Amino acid sequence: MRDYPITEIKGVGGKTAGLFHKLGVDTAEDLLRFYPRDYEEYRPAAREIGSLVPDTVNAYFARLIKSADIVNYGRYPVTTLTLRDEAGSLAVVWYNMPWLRKMLQAGRLLVFRGRVVRKRNRLTMEQPEIFTPEQYEALSGTFLPIYPQTKGLGNKTIQKAVRAVLADKELTREYLPENLREAYELAEINFAVEHIHFPDSREQLLYARKRLVFDEFFLFAVAAKYLRGKKEDVPSAYPFRIDPEGAALAERLPYRLTGAQKKVLGEIYADLSGGHVMKRLVQGDVGSGKTVVAFLALLQASLNGFQGALMAPTEVLAEQHYAALMELAKTYGLPVRPVLLTGALKAKDKREAQRKIREHEADIVIGTHALIQDKVEFDRLALVITDEQHRFGVEQRTALEEKGGEPHVLVMSATPIPRTLAVILYGDLDISVIDELPAGRRHIKNAVVGPDYRENAYRFIAREVAAGRQAYLICPMVEPGEMQDLENVTDTCALLRKRWKDGGPRVALLHGRMKPGEKNAVMEKFAAGEADVLVSTTVVEVGINVPNATVMMIENAERFGLAQLHQLRGRVGRGDAQSYCILVNTGGKEAEKRLDILKNSDDGFFIANEDLRLRGPGDIFGVRQSGDLEFQLADIYTDAAVLKDAVREAEKLLRKDPELRRKENAELKKLLDRYLRKKYSGLTL
Ligand code: ADP
Ligand code: MG
Repeated sequence: MRDYPITEIKGVGGKTAGLFHKLGVDTAEDLLRFYPRDYEEYRPAAREIGSLVPDTVNAYFARLIKSADIVNYGRYPVTTLTLRDEAGSLAVVWYNMPWLRKMLQAGRLLVFRGRVVRKRNRLTMEQPEIFTPEQYEALSGTFLPIYPQTKGLGNKTIQKAVRAVLADKELTREYLPENLREAYELAEINFAVEHIHFPDSREQLLYARKRLVFDEFFLFAVAAKYLRGKKEDVPSAYPFRIDPEGAALAERLPYRLTGAQKKVLGEIYADLSGGHVMKRLVQGDVGSGKTVVAFLALLQASLNGFQGALMAPTEVLAEQHYAALMELAKTYGLPVRPVLLTGALKAKDKREAQRKIREHEADIVIGTHALIQDKVEFDRLALVITDEQHRFGVEQRTALEEKGGEPHVLVMSATPIPRTLAVILYGDLDISVIDELPAGRRHIKNAVVGPDYRENAYRFIAREVAAGRQAYLICPMVEPGEMQDLENVTDTCALLRKRWKDGGPRVALLHGRMKPGEKNAVMEKFAAGEADVLVSTTVVEVGINVPNATVMMIENAERFGLAQLHQLRGRVGRGDAQSYCILVNTGGKEAEKRLDILKNSDDGFFIANEDLRLRGPGDIFGVRQSGDLEFQLADIYTDAAVLKDAVREAEKLLRKDPELRRKENAELKKLLDRYLRKKYSGLTL
């Protein structure tokens, strides 16, 4: 019931707490909500070599006929064991663990659990864990959670801490009415939280997950509606008269607007001049040209004597937008007075920017969430635009809107959401879609390759860099040891720096655990061409625009949702040069089929839907599509059915009790406050 700092958990000292903090966990409640990223399933051990499945983790029960040997390969002692039955033989190896031999004596009955591969036509189990039959029997049939980890804080420690907190029954209180839980077959909240961590079976895991997914959607919907109220036509205090000369700028640009851009712009102009407050979402794939649409709308704000603001989720992006607008203003002699406002400005410059905004010396304001701080006051804020909407919380968007009385609102997003879902997620917004890419854009060349192609890829990148280009290399993990078999940016960066130390490509490192200032510095360095290869986690996804980058290489590509891969790929192919996307697949044939979809399509909506169709709704723990879209467990594609239910129920509840004042909703209100505080406090990439 009472939340408490994790240092109160037995066995969690200050140092461990510091490491937990790195993972975003400070309190017991945080820890309960720190869900596993995967599970180890302990299946009953096989008793025949013939039933082992290569390329997966297997458990094998055996009596040792011979003791283990130790051979010295190069620098490492390798412990080897050969197990046989009528059907064949299995080699078992451990690197650099000579002490194991004591345990591996002839005559013993043991269970080995590890990945089985076929090596030089021989079945080999590598680095397996060793159990006595009794130990394994106790584990058999269970799932053990695998958590996101960080250096110094391993899975076992996290498991122990979670178990300790789970022993505190009722830390979380049920807040959903029983009839609702019954209607949708939802687990009780404490049951769900406990079993998302330690399920006894797959069914239980799915049952627990469904409840928590429902909660995520439900809270999201309640929060959205609670904050925004219902969509209705509100007369606007800022009626625009669309300035024909401003609108004609569209015809003078170095390129012609696409039909889709024109159509959307027309919708925006109609809204702005229609007498009501605009609330519109513009969805358009990466590279569809949303920015210029935003600029043309902002120009109208300026020409009408109003102010307009554009809020971007990162400083780099805000600076890019600002530079682009300045360029446009200069080239065409536009009478606009833009100003940049980000957290990175010196205090003095910030004050100056704030003064200009207050006194209406500036009419187009571009910035980050620094725009929504209390100190920022506008004179006549008539139009508010948020870029990369999915990176912001609802509350942040609303906070900016509140600065203007009731300004027109435009939000822009590249996340491909099917229209039916967008209607639910952004229920209070009208929706425009830019469903056409500018003509003449070169098709990105794609390759799906195995890990043995890496060497070639590195050489290819070096050649591109030598020709003056830049490259991205994406890995799923930050540090080594977080998850077996997955590449991490720390090691990859070190490896490449060593490889290219003498005048080769200059490598920069970027990941989400760096401080915001550091992240910005790295992205700026890369954008300025002072680094050639950016080794990064998916944080780079946010609309960064480096037209000189021509290669996007993605490790463990099968681990990502196709929609997310498509977004990543959209970082290249932004300039005139031919660009390339190299997807390193470590997931075998099935994964390859999925990845091939990317080879054959450039359409983000199509890709997301195909992915869903291929994987089927059963594959819940595989890949997440929506990537960074607000949710921890839930996925708007695979959990679309639950999403609909949750939104419907949220609406029903708020109709009855719009302010959540009723006693039976007290617990929900508390949860909502916590959710809003937590979710929208400070932006992290
Ligand atoms: P996004 O929709 O991903 O935000 P941007 O607005 O950053 O895309 O546009 C991507 C690139 O395409 C920019 O360099 C922009 O100048 C260019 N661009 C925008 N519209 C067109 C067009 N109609 N024809 C050609 N290039 C365009
Ligand atoms: Mg953009």
